[in-house]
Amino acid sequence: MSDTIFGKIISGEIPADKIYEDEHCIAINDVNPQAPVHVLVIPKRAIPKLSEATGDDQALLGHLLLVVKKLAAQLGVAEGFRVIINNGKGGGQTVFHLHLHIIGGFKMGEGMV
Ligand code: AMP
Repeated sequence: MSDTIFGKIISGEIPADKIYEDEHCIAINDVNPQAPVHVLVIPKRAIPKLSEATGDDQALLGHLLLVVKKLAAQLGVAEGFRVIINNGKGGGQTVFHLHLHIIGGFKMGEGMV
């Protein structure tokens, strides 16, 4: 498990607003939401960032996108949402444990840039 805040949330060391969990990942509400729906899908396997993923992560990465699809429907934003992965400091990543942002519930032109 990574020694990041997300690793600690996955291990249960730190509480979070968890909305989903399966064998491979969890999803939590972002503590600082940028839109009415802002959820983070976080793999339990601690890949620091997308650019460090390998072929061994292929099935996991596909699984994460299917979880995004399922949660977007459950959250009522299936018709319009964004999936964002910040990669590296230059890409705005602040927590170095791979995660996918699901962002939705805003009108076009509002919210996230
Ligand atoms: P990134 O900039 O892509 O690394 O995104 C990190 C995200 O994690 C930010 O949107 C933060 O608001 C969010 N975040 C940080 N700590 C927590 C936490 N304890 N619970 C939920 N979200 C968090």
